[in-house]
Order: sequence, then C-alpha cells, then structure tokens
Amino acid sequence: MADFDVDLFVIGAGSGGVRAARIAASHGARVAIAEEYRVGGTCVIRGCVPKKLLVYASRFADDFEDAAGYGWHVPQATFDWTHLIANKDREIARLEAAYVATLERHEVEILRTRAVLEDRHTVRLADGRRIRAKYVLIATGAAPSLGADIAGLQHVITSNEAFHLPSLPKRILIQGGGYIAVEFAGIFNGLGSEVTLVYRGDNILRGFDDDLRAHLRGEMERRGIRIVTRQTVASVDKVEHGFCTTLSDNEEVVVDQVMFATGRKPHVNGLGLEATGVTLAANGGIAVDGYSRTVVDNIYAVGDVTNRVNLTPVAIREGHAFADTVFGGKPVRVDHANVPTAVFSEPECGVIGLTEAQARQHCERVDIYKTTFRPMRATLSGRDTRVFMKLVVDGITDKVLGCHIVGADAGEMIQVLGIAVRMGATKADFDATMAVHPTMSEELVTMREKAASYGRAAAE
Ligand code: NDP
Repeated sequence: MADFDVDLFVIGAGSGGVRAARIAASHGARVAIAEEYRVGGTCVIRGCVPKKLLVYASRFADDFEDAAGYGWHVPQATFDWTHLIANKDREIARLEAAYVATLERHEVEILRTRAVLEDRHTVRLADGRRIRAKYVLIATGAAPSLGADIAGLQHVITSNEAFHLPSLPKRILIQGGGYIAVEFAGIFNGLGSEVTLVYRGDNILRGFDDDLRAHLRGEMERRGIRIVTRQTVASVDKVEHGFCTTLSDNEEVVVDQVMFATGRKPHVNGLGLEATGVTLAANGGIAVDGYSRTVVDNIYAVGDVTNRVNLTPVAIREGHAFADTVFGGKPVRVDHANVPTAVFSEPECGVIGLTEAQARQHCERVDIYKTTFRPMRATLSGRDTRVFMKLVVDGITDKVLGCHIVGADAGEMIQVLGIAVRMGATKADFDATMAVHPTMSEELVTMREKAASYGRAAAE
C-alpha cells in the first residue's frame, strides 16, 4: 500500500461514485473522490430530483381544476416560475450538502477539480498534483447529446438548461421521444406552455410496450400536447419573438424555446483512457464485466458512463457492488434483468419486465391481460382520462413476465409490483391476492379475461 496515496480514487461524485466511495471507506479503504461540477451528479443536480420537483409543480394545475367537481371553489390560480426555480435550487443545494456531509463523515477526501488518468494508477488533478491510486473507479456519467448537426443548433437547449430558464416559455418545441422529452412535455404542458413534441419514429417511447405507447400518446394529446411523428427538426432560426424551427417536411413552428432530448452520451472524452488501455463497448460506454471491471484489472466503471441500464438506482447498486467486491471481500454481480422503471410523464408510466412483442419472441405461448378504465377520481372531476394496465403472462408456466401501467402513481405501483415479478409470481398468485378497494391497482389482481393468447397453443 505504501506505493499508493489512496486505495481508491473515484472520478465523478454522482450517484454511483458517491455510493462506491462511501461503502469502500466503510470497508476501511482510503478514498479520494474528484468532482469538477457539483457533488450529487446528474440525478441530484440536473436530473431525477429537480425533474420530479417540476413534475409535482406541473400537476397542481389539474388538482385546482379537478377540485371544482368535489365542491371546492378555487379562485383563479397563478403560477410563478421564478419562485419554483428558486425553491428547487434551495432543495438541490440542501441535498448536495447532505451528500458532501456523508462523504466527509466517512473520511472520503473530496477534490473539487477535474481529474485525468495518466496511467492505470496515476490521476492528475487540474492544479498539476498527481495522486497514485491502487484502484480507480470511473463514474463520470453521461451528458446530453444534441444528435445531428443542424443549422441553428446553438439556439437549442437541453434538459441541463431547462432547469434554469429565466422564465416559463409560452411555447416550446421539444425534439425526442424518450424519457426526457416525454417528461418535459408533461411538465411544460402542466405549467401552461404550448408544447409541440417532434419525434423521428412512429411513436414515442420506442422500446416500451406498444399498447402503453399508444395509450400514453393519446393521453398526452388529449391534454393538448401536439405530437408530430416521423419528423425531425431540420433547422432553427432566431426570429423577432423567439425561434422558427423548420421540420423535415418543411413545416415551420415558431416557439420561444427549442429543447432537444435526443439521448445522452457517456462522459468518456478527456479522461485519459487511452493512457490506461481501458476500452469502450460498441455503445460508446466503457466496456466492463459483470463486476464493473474494465479490461485493466485495477480500473472499474459504474453508472451511465458504462451505458448499461442508465438509471440512478442501477448506478447506485453497481457502485455498492463494486465496493463490496473489491474492498469488502464479497464479490457481488448486479442483476440487470427485470429492472422496474417509471416515466414521469403526465400521466405516469410504470413498467417492469417484457413487452408483449418481446414475450412473443421468447415464449412458446403468451397470454395478454389488459384493461383501460376511468379512474374513480375522474368521475366527479369530469376529467377525460383513462388508466391503462397490461399483464404479459407466460402461457405455459403462468409466470407474469411483464407489467405495463399508465396512470396516476404508476411509478409507485411498479416499485411494489416489481418485487412480485422478480420473485416469479404467477397470474394465479395475482388472482389469489385480495383486492384493495377502491383503488386503481386492484385491477391488477382482478383481470380475469384474456385479451389475447398467442403462440403454438393458440394456433392449435
Ligand atoms: P433516450 O435515449 O431515452 O431518448 C432519446 C430520444 O431521442 C429517442 O426518442 C431517439 O429516437 C431520439 N433521437 C436520438 N437521436 C436523434 C436525432 N439525431 N434526431 C432526432 N431524434 C433523435 O434519451 P433521453 O435523453 O430521453 O434520456 C436518456 C436516458 O436517461 C434514458 O434512456 C434513461 O435511461 C434516463 N432517464 C431516466 C428517467 C427516469 O427514470 N424516469 C428520466 C430521464 C432520463 P429513437 O427512439 O428513434 O432512437
């Protein structure tokens, strides 16, 4: 150990890096962590947390409207963007301080600087200082990618800037059909902006279950979001009051803000990887094995920089597993199958497991159960909205392979449902579970009629 200044040097103090540093330190390792921006990373500073706060803010509009049917008279509500952003920033600062305090409590040295690898054991800091580390963990995350290089790209913002706009745009065009595009479309729509979402494919949320995609699109459109598919933004011009975007079919849309949510790229540039021999995978992320180890045996990588499943809880689990494996004497592989996920769109989506299309590819027989219904809350409010629920079941073993929900609190439902699906619950187990009445989720245990059955058995 004498050869090394620290046992572990972590580059990047986001969700994965902070967890790994803390757990490694609790196993007795001497740990330093470098962060060039703010401690907390994407999730805390400009991702999950501020996004969810904005989602909460955007939902009050419906609550005020819905209250009328329940006998409440709500005087004309007004919204103050600056107030929301200031409160959000205060909360983010509080969380950042909590992360710093946790690291300090575990005696992790925090270096607020950029760190570059000079070789497999040497890290150079911005001030020229060199630190020798026995192990290195790369946890630098990912950054927004703007996609194609179009004219006027300099006018385009990403989610990074969306959190700090000086005012709420009256009209916004968002390009993309993934998590971020769909979530921000809901946020701006709820807060009162006129939203146009432009997506290059047939329907939003590619990779999700087709019925869920269709249902969510219908709900978003009913809320007044204009969804333009099979188009891309060809150019963006500054005009007197905002920006004129020209789409690939030559339609012009004038808005106050243009935002691209066209994916995120692993943050690998300028890290000095070439000096170490660390290699990249085909998806542009750092190539790692099941223990998050790169091809260089003392260098590991976790989280979005590896481009496996880009979700905060996955990065945290990978960071924890790395620390237990290397410093805790307990090798842990992270299981990336059956990861529950939520899209905080309006309404929300909650998903775990296989889509119908995936199941039909992999299983001999597939049974589909699905339902759409008007949630009870919408009765008195008169809101025009429907909930969607779908179970994808293995027709031979009766195991529930996938569950897809669109509706209020779908994220909360899928977290709990995820336990059952991971444990291998069967449709019969679902049916045997008593309903909680009246709830929306009771539908999950009361769906008796197959909507469809596919595969060899169905063909016979
Ligand atoms: P996604 O990869 O989910 O979506 C990117 C979207 O941009 C896709 O619809 C893609 O189209 C489109 N696109 C990509 N390149 C271009 C281009 N050149 N021109 C036009 N459209 C393009 O990325 P996001 O940025 O939405 O989010 C990044 C990741 O962050 C997510 O995948 C997720 O893992 C994570 N995340 C998770 C959240 C959550 O858990 N709630 C919330 C936010 C982010 P196509 O479908 O055709 O490829």
